[in-house]
Amino acid sequence: MATTHDSLKGKNVLVTGASTGIGRAIAVRFAAEGANVGINYSRSAGEAAETERLCQAVRTKGGRQFVVQADVADETQVKAMFARTFSEFGGLDVLINNSGILKETPSHELEMADFDRVVGVNLRGAFLCAREALRHFVAHNKPGVILNNSSVHQIIPKPGFVSYTISKSGMEGMTRTLALEYAGRGIRVNTVGPGAIVTPINNSWINDAEKRSGVESHIPMSRSGEPEEMAAVFAFLASDEASYITGQTIFACGGLTLFPEFRDNWST
Ligand code: NAD
Repeated sequence: MATTHDSLKGKNVLVTGASTGIGRAIAVRFAAEGANVGINYSRSAGEAAETERLCQAVRTKGGRQFVVQADVADETQVKAMFARTFSEFGGLDVLINNSGILKETPSHELEMADFDRVVGVNLRGAFLCAREALRHFVAHNKPGVILNNSSVHQIIPKPGFVSYTISKSGMEGMTRTLALEYAGRGIRVNTVGPGAIVTPINNSWINDAEKRSGVESHIPMSRSGEPEEMAAVFAFLASDEASYITGQTIFACGGLTLFPEFRDNWST
């Protein structure tokens, strides 16, 4: 695996929702860079163990990992996850808020319990984890990095998924506010906005050739993205290569945020 960020070697990193998809790819990439990686999962210990195995397989620069169960929407569980991280690694340098869920429902039929769950995991959960990381960075008067996994739907509306779009656009406000609030302490906060990526969250179309080509016909680069392509952006943003970047979102989306409908001129 390509590794390019020497500054990540020996860093203590916690990745939420790291048992599958983009979170797994992030954990593996950081392991390959020589970081110590905390692998959070919410439900499947078996999938988390597979992420751990993949991390072990790419380690050539030292580092270690551990697996920790926690629902990021639950304050008690989040606090326990951070306590475990501090006791395993002796501290934290990088938090990656990756966990996310979505649910499709026409907005007028949306039950508030479903709304609360999506916003609770994606946005409240991300803030809960960010708060614990910030408390640690501030208490030890040390720099740190917080990265969030958002979506192109941070800025592109997605009818039928209002709780998801609220959670992801809220993530932009959180990123920019925390970035400004803690910039003077050397704490950087940034976000990655993926497009359509081949992960379990997209099981409804990734293995169906017809549906997949329908999805990909909307993407300017004419293909879905790979989790490893997202992990590369997280690795860059966590590294010293991004030392002067804070409060930003990098959309890694094959051009989806470029108003693809305007690819061919239709207005004159
Ligand atoms: P995924 O379903 O494989 O990953 C989501 C992860 O979040 C899973 O590991 C899941 O166990 C975890 N999770 C869910 N609820 C949790 C909870 N309460 N506590 C802790 N962890 C929890 O799909 P993915 O595509 O890898 O998604 C990762 C992130 O990327 C999500 O935030 C998603 O919104 C974002 N994203 C994905 C795409 C895409 O096309 N795949 C596009 C844009 C954004």
